[in-house]
Amino acid sequence: MRNRHGRKFKCAGRWTAARQAILDVFLNRGGHLTADDVFMEVKKRAPGVGLATVYRNLDFLSREGLVSRFQFSDGRAHYELNDDEREHHHHLICKSCGNVSDYSEFIHRELKLMKDLEKELSKKHDFNIDSHELHFYGVCGDCRE
Ligand SMILES: [Zn+2]
Ligand SMILES: [Zn+2]
Ligand SMILES: [Zn+2]
Repeated sequence: MRNRHGRKFKCAGRWTAARQAILDVFLNRGGHLTADDVFMEVKKRAPGVGLATVYRNLDFLSREGLVSRFQFSDGRAHYELNDDEREHHHHLICKSCGNVSDYSEFIHRELKLMKDLEKELSKKHDFNIDSHELHFYGVCGDCRE
């Protein structure tokens, strides 16, 4: 199975049509999708696929590391494609409207902080850190108006 960049996904288990349809949704739409979002899109491409199948496959894809699963504060899981070619980004999550913004234009202090933090934590806990996820919660500009 290849994504649009021709990168090969390594994946255990059988590659089903439902799984492909779900992955296509992420490749075409991008962003952070809930299981419901994915289901609505998959229905257009593969009408036979039910919501339970979507849930099962999203679990599978996140276990396999093809998608990341985030539990945001609205209590619903959001999924995002793990694409090596995509820039590393952090999240700003609005607790009022649930909007999730990605940003990858890090401020200088942030870059330095994360680097120093990873270094010190690695040492302190004897743990080789190779990635992190960072979510900030708050209220967006639109919701404050
Ligand atoms: Zn980061
Ligand atoms: Zn908002
Ligand atoms: Zn994101």
